[in-house]
Amino acid sequence: MIASNCQAHRNRVPAVSQHQSALLDWYDQHARRLPWRYAPGQPADAYRVWLSEVMLQQTTVASVIPYFLSFTERWPTVEALALAPLEDLLEAWAGLGYYARARNLHACARTVSLDHGGQFPSDLNALRALPGVGDYTAAAIRAVAFGLPAVVVDGNIERIMSRLARIEAPLPKGKVAIRAEAARRAPDQRCGDYAQALMDLGASICLPKAPRCAACPLAFECLALRDGGPELAAQYPRKLPKKAKPTRHGAALWLSDAQGRVFIRRRSEKGLLASMLEIPSTDWCSSDQPLAAPDWLGLDWQRQDAEVRHTFTHFHLRLTLYSARLPRGGDAALQATLSQERDARWVAPELLGELGLPTLMRKIAIAAELADGPG
Ligand code: SF4
Repeated sequence: MIASNCQAHRNRVPAVSQHQSALLDWYDQHARRLPWRYAPGQPADAYRVWLSEVMLQQTTVASVIPYFLSFTERWPTVEALALAPLEDLLEAWAGLGYYARARNLHACARTVSLDHGGQFPSDLNALRALPGVGDYTAAAIRAVAFGLPAVVVDGNIERIMSRLARIEAPLPKGKVAIRAEAARRAPDQRCGDYAQALMDLGASICLPKAPRCAACPLAFECLALRDGGPELAAQYPRKLPKKAKPTRHGAALWLSDAQGRVFIRRRSEKGLLASMLEIPSTDWCSSDQPLAAPDWLGLDWQRQDAEVRHTFTHFHLRLTLYSARLPRGGDAALQATLSQERDARWVAPELLGELGLPTLMRKIAIAAELADGPG
């Protein structure tokens, strides 16, 4: 038993070290320049690594860069971010989507500030205990910010490993084998460069639909390429057929006053888009029944020839646009009701873009601008 383990070990060491050196040599020449990356030989800043990793979840590098630059200019340290009001952070985050991440970002900054003296821990369990930090982000911070060994596996790295080893088990079941492949290849040195090299390879060479195998430094060990070329490789990772997303329906309520200003408020602290500013809407229902005219405030809501479409993680949303206008001088009782809404305000439509509205709300504002009736 001991002999066979040693034999297996001897057999695999050259391949693993060849894998690591091929990838790191490639990285030394082709590393992407990104604002959160440290210069070679310089220590990384855990705050910047963490911030970029949270922003990059579900979002492209190109979308993240301007947000990253404005966040780090406004809040240069984790302690500065911890002191920021949540509303400011949510508004600065607007447009990046998945707003639970922004709330976790704030909670995590506070935890690091209060419980860790403003320094991110390097221990995996301590990292995992921070709000919003999952296995991937914890491993990425440990490897990239501290240069310590960690098995970093995101979607890009899943794709690479599943192709290198031709892992047939479909996701999510296949994650176990993928992780084992990633762990087997992970180095003890240059851990941060190695993790970032895999991320870069996934972003520029081992692409989802059309892998550029001719330019790949790992082609020598790729079983999918060996067995069926890039066409076969593109079929990994194996996936179960996707379930269709349900569609929910509702009405967006564009309420303007006699001066043409539009009414907005802040959403509740719980649920989707929690605590974000919003243009009001009715409940979002799954029913296929025709949408009833809204009765909010007892106003005469006019249906506009405009539908706003948006997709969340688990459902599609279709909002029909309705508009109403308060009479000049308003109705005192109505104004009093509206003033009870959370963070209620009237805003000139041309100033909505400055408020950090989430993407869905921006779409409603554009639809209202394009429709003839409102405004
Ligand atoms: S050879 Fe092709 S499929 Fe294999 S890891 Fe490289 S780019 Fe991906």
